[in-house]
Amino acid sequence: KRLFNFCAGPAALPEAVLQTARDELTDWHGKGLSVMEMSHRSDEFVGIAEQAEQDLRELLNIPSDYKVLFLQGGASQQFAQIPLNLLGEDGRADYIDTGIWSRKAMEEASRYGHVNAAASGKEYDYFAIPGQNEWTLSADAAYVHYTPNETIGGVEFNWIPEVGDKPLVADVSSDILSRPLDVSRFGLLYAGAQKNIGPSGLTVVIVREDLLGKAHSKCPTMLDYSVAAKNGSMYNTPPTFAWYLSGLVFKWLKAQGGLDAMERINDAKQRKLYTAIDASELYSNPINVADRSWMNIPFRLADDRLDKPFLAGAEERGLLNLKGHRSVGGMRASIYNAVPEAAVDALVAYMAEFEKQHG
Ligand code: PLP
Repeated sequence: KRLFNFCAGPAALPEAVLQTARDELTDWHGKGLSVMEMSHRSDEFVGIAEQAEQDLRELLNIPSDYKVLFLQGGASQQFAQIPLNLLGEDGRADYIDTGIWSRKAMEEASRYGHVNAAASGKEYDYFAIPGQNEWTLSADAAYVHYTPNETIGGVEFNWIPEVGDKPLVADVSSDILSRPLDVSRFGLLYAGAQKNIGPSGLTVVIVREDLLGKAHSKCPTMLDYSVAAKNGSMYNTPPTFAWYLSGLVFKWLKAQGGLDAMERINDAKQRKLYTAIDASELYSNPINVADRSWMNIPFRLADDRLDKPFLAGAEERGLLNLKGHRSVGGMRASIYNAVPEAAVDALVAYMAEFEKQHG
């Protein structure tokens, strides 16, 4: 029996996708073997890989002068790979600090060049995103990096920064595919797959072609985007099963009506949950309303001694993984694409029931 899973990542996958993967597990399309057992250079797997890229391109309307790379190492490896590819030998980059993930990206980049903290949410306790009038961008930055959705803190940009002719680089790990995005505004987008794309082990990078071929002279071959691009992300053996499964998720998203449909569904989900939190005396979410994440919704109970009974009752009702990140405490509901509206309805109903008993 499938329960409702609010995990921040690895996160819920669409049940229909898992069923297809199960049906095809031991014998893919009558070929007598599993995708996991195929050569990545076989016609069958190359077909799967190309179809996944094609479907992702359609979903996000990715312009033809962008490469889509299917890599490994997670979003965390991108924290190093981006400066190694874009900073030159001793360059400077602007970073916007909106929480834990953007700071991790900054710390790693500072090993490879000069990092300018162009803006920080610190003065708002990271409960709000500093508006662009508060940013101090460098004239000589090789790129501007930001984190559109802070998975732990629960702030999300509902706007795209304006950075002139500088490449805009964004960690879209936890909000990619949640609604339409104008890819042409970006130099590079990257995402660990395990939230809105597919299973862990795969990292998607979408990069404008003019940014390729500029890697640091000491950049490992495996981390040079231009090597990955030239080799169709198959310089070495790619994570074939994760790539295949992500392709099934892209097909599922298209069948749902694409990203316009996901935006409508995700909007309805987030509205329901924030409305329930704001209307209650027991639960609260501290984030500036305009900057609230649609995907990751942290909330606290008025008395943290109620955390344990709240989580125990949730689990009894099949509502899994609501415990907040250890650095924040309280609760967090991650409501990615594969978490149905019915899961949010069940959570809201349980929250009301719990408040009646303990409020
Ligand atoms: N960036 C963001 C916004 C994340 O949410 C996460 C993971 O939760 C990461 C980076 C790190 O991703 P990975 O575990 O793929 O390295």
